[in-house]
Amino acid sequence: MNSQTEGEKPIFVIQKHDASQLHYDFRLELNGTLTSWAVPKGPSLDPKERRLAIQVADHPICYADFEGTITEGNYGAGEVIVWDTGTYTGLKEYRNTKKIMDAYQQGHMEVWLTGYKLHGGFALSHMQQKRGHWLLIKMNDAYANRERDILADAPNSVLTNRTIAHR
Ligand code: MN
Repeated sequence: MNSQTEGEKPIFVIQKHDASQLHYDFRLELNGTLTSWAVPKGPSLDPKERRLAIQVADHPICYADFEGTITEGNYGAGEVIVWDTGTYTGLKEYRNTKKIMDAYQQGHMEVWLTGYKLHGGFALSHMQQKRGHWLLIKMNDAYANRERDILADAPNSVLTNRTIAHR
């Protein structure tokens, strides 16, 4: 997968990861790497849902299309699929990577996702009291949906149509 170059939008990816606890890894291309959060309950389309997103280690951009099995004995052992991917822009800072970086460092980002499954605005806010703990919240726009459970509706990989069997 290409890294970001001038005039190209940065990528996002959400990998569904069946490790010791099932979770969704939300990753944004930022400053040449994939800044990453583990979201135990996954993203929601309902702006009233505040989904905990725990910041985890950056991953190299080439990891964005990884699917397969992390073998036993390695960190995060279990199945991984690409649940969604696409590009994003900073909502208030269209195509300005530096401004997105500033927003990240200040602990409040608003991004517009253009994925296969997810579209529109999402906010990521760092919780004041707990280092590394953020909240992922769907913003109130035309793509918000209080009824639809997109995790149950659209469980498959957007790259290969693979699924993760429920334990
Ligand atoms: Mn993970």
